[in-house]
Amino acid sequence: MTAEEAAPSGSAAPPDTVRLMVLEGDGIGPEIVAATLRVLAAVGERFGIDLAFEHHLIGLAALAAHGSTFPGHIIGAVANFDGIVLGPVDHQRYPTPELGGLNPSGQLRKQLDLYANIRPARTLPGLPPPCGRSFDLLIVRENTEGFYADRSMFVGSGEFMPTPDVALSLRKITRDGSTRIARSAFELAGRRARRKVTAVHKANVLRVTDGLFLECVREVAEEYPEVEYEEQLVDAMTALLVRDPSRFDVIVTTNMFGDILSDLASELSGSLGLAASLNSGREFAIAQAQHGSAPDIAGEGVANPASLIGSAGMLLAWIGERREDQRLIDAGAAISRAIADVLRLPQHRTRDLGGDVGTAAFADLVADALRSDASKGEDVA
Ligand code: ATP
Repeated sequence: MTAEEAAPSGSAAPPDTVRLMVLEGDGIGPEIVAATLRVLAAVGERFGIDLAFEHHLIGLAALAAHGSTFPGHIIGAVANFDGIVLGPVDHQRYPTPELGGLNPSGQLRKQLDLYANIRPARTLPGLPPPCGRSFDLLIVRENTEGFYADRSMFVGSGEFMPTPDVALSLRKITRDGSTRIARSAFELAGRRARRKVTAVHKANVLRVTDGLFLECVREVAEEYPEVEYEEQLVDAMTALLVRDPSRFDVIVTTNMFGDILSDLASELSGSLGLAASLNSGREFAIAQAQHGSAPDIAGEGVANPASLIGSAGMLLAWIGERREDQRLIDAGAAISRAIADVLRLPQHRTRDLGGDVGTAAFADLVADALRSDASKGEDVA
């Protein structure tokens, strides 16, 4: 459905309506977005939240319809919304920017200054983790600079070729970018039971860039004496995570290291299909699964939508905190609990978790769990 076909326009909705822009993306995007909207409808009913959705095309469908994978009107329309539900994108298949191939995910993060990518990875009761240990991690990944060619420059690309045989890539690390992501990590750690932050870096080789990153994190650490602080080299960290992820609590790191470590952590928790995430800035946030568009399983109805459903729960909670609306915060917690409740039973699991439940059927199970949560009354934690 395009914006023209969508029912409620963001700007026409009543004031306490939660107005969400919906961008399906590529590959499994349409399937897991549809599943997420079913769950959002159920949680809206359960908590009396008025949700309005407006669909816009991005990705390969937008390239065919509008000549660009990220049409210009989308950024202009964002001000009418409280957040975005963003499906994964297959930007490897996009043409060059001159031919309309822009990465919607990178563009949104950069243009809306969504500097904090919050990526939880936790084991769930009854779902045996591949790593054999229970853990509860939060990876706080810088989202607007680092090694990402589409983000690190004001004009032009951060990757270039001075000769046909030489390719260069710039890695941008700034004092402001490092300080604000560190502050996000310490704020989040201060609200958790363990209260521990691990900064992950490669400052033994990247002395200048990761040196600056560490200097900023250390300065912020001084402001939070109640939070334990440690540092690890990124290569050692991969081994330590596999050996015992329960050693860690909040991990703060630069863009690419965070991307890689969070895939590892979510797979250790059971599957990449469980990996929720929120891209947040000061003014806006986007629910987006950690994984990509999984073209290998697209269209089969077997993708695990828990990742995007959980991300949408994080988004509702984020909007609730900004609005000081407890219903939204409770709705976010209820989504996370409903996913965990459903996954307790092997017969409720999707293929990535060894089961045979399809994408839509999984969403229905989570929606039913939310409705039966309602029958328990106001016991929402
Ligand atoms: P990107 O670079 O865009 O992040 P990627 O190369 O990391 O993408 P993914 O698309 O994330 O690749 O897929 C990696 C593997 O995980 C694939 O085998 C894919 O099928 C699987 N996968 C990813 N998401 C899910 C999901 N929601 N449910 C089941 N399997 C998934």
